[in-house]
Amino acid sequence: AKAAGKDRYELFDPRLRREQAERIRMVERLRAALDADEFTVHYQPIVALRSGVSIGFEALVRWTPPEQAPVGPDQFIPAAEDSGLIVGLGEWVLRRACAEAAPWHRRYGTTIAVNVSPRQLAEPSFAAVVRQALADSGLPPNALTIEITEGVLVRSGAQTELTLAHLSELRADGVRVAIDDFGTGYSSLAYLRDLPIDILKIDKSFMPDDPTDAQQAALVRAVVDLARSLGLTTVAEGVETAHHAELLRTLGCDRGQGWLFGRPGPAPAAAIRLAAETTV
Ligand code: C2E
Ligand code: CA
Ligand code: CA
Ligand code: CA
Repeated sequence: AKAAGKDRYELFDPRLRREQAERIRMVERLRAALDADEFTVHYQPIVALRSGVSIGFEALVRWTPPEQAPVGPDQFIPAAEDSGLIVGLGEWVLRRACAEAAPWHRRYGTTIAVNVSPRQLAEPSFAAVVRQALADSGLPPNALTIEITEGVLVRSGAQTELTLAHLSELRADGVRVAIDDFGTGYSSLAYLRDLPIDILKIDKSFMPDDPTDAQQAALVRAVVDLARSLGLTTVAEGVETAHHAELLRTLGCDRGQGWLFGRPGPAPAAAIRLAAETTV
């Protein structure tokens, strides 16, 4: 009764009403954009820190409405998630990324990482959708990583069970699972033990902004050591400077991703990068 009373009150709060109206308009625009094919996928290299070679890419969705500036995912993923549109959009991104990355994998052995939202993972069809995307593209399961956040665990019991079942099933096929944005959430570290994962992505907020700050470096070391002691492959996000890369190499972090190595770009740019790397 208390919750219902709060909801009723919110309807009359002008600011909340305006925000709600904007959300609804955003969802309508997203639905139209999906119909009109206004989304693309950009690819950002993930490099092996020892060799500097691109071992794969992360797929990042972009919305490019005609004659308007591209809209970044932070602006529309939350609305897509709330409304459930993420299920269709996420499936489209997955299928597109697998299709575009399959020839790169055949030629260069690279992998592709795709972001999957908690809502997608709780869909009964999720594992089947992934298998279909792999079958249709010809990409082998072990060339696909799905990136999830700890948010997948803050759902109701039945949804969590379904999510864990999907992850286990796909891992049995050979698909890799990465925990994204590690260190930004508020839950306990127990989820590292409870989630079936292979890769830990250290959030970009851990990258030191001051190369001389020993405490910042110690924090990165602690996270890398934790991941390694659990047998996980480590990927650092937000690698922007040569100092970041050097620190990570020293600490034994496996992979890096960030502006130092390359910004996200369209599929042809990824292909050109791979061709250039193999000729040098
Ligand atoms: P994320 O999964 O953590 O992706 C990494 C973000 O960091 C990307 O932002 C990337 O462009 C940005 N980035 C890469 N290197 C650097 C760097 O050196 N410095 C800094 N400051 N940033 C860097 P982007 O593309 O704007 O994506 C934002 C978020 O939107 C993603 O964060 C992810 O959570 C979400 N997202 C993107 N594509 C999808 C998708 O297809 N499905 C879902 N569910 N979420 C997506
Ligand atoms: Ca990600
Ligand atoms: Ca991330
Ligand atoms: Ca993020």
